[in-house]
Amino acid sequence: MKKATCKDLRGACDAEIQGETPEQMGENCKQHVMEMVGAGDVDHLTAIESMKQLSPEEQQAWYEAFKNGFEALENV
Ligand SMILES: [Zn+2]
Repeated sequence: MKKATCKDLRGACDAEIQGETPEQMGENCKQHVMEMVGAGDVDHLTAIESMKQLSPEEQQAWYEAFKNGFEALENV
């Protein structure tokens, strides 16, 4: 199991996000962000908006970089 912060995943806070795989961590982060936005958090809403500004190619490139760096993340 690896861990990263919400910020590492283009989020907005230092909340710890864990996952066995990049996919799982991405899912967990999405859930966290949705929860925060649901609670009315503006910073996380801004983070989503900034992600949406990226082209699909840029989003893909970011995700590839995240996947490539996943093994280097801290173990939990
Ligand atoms: Zn967060």
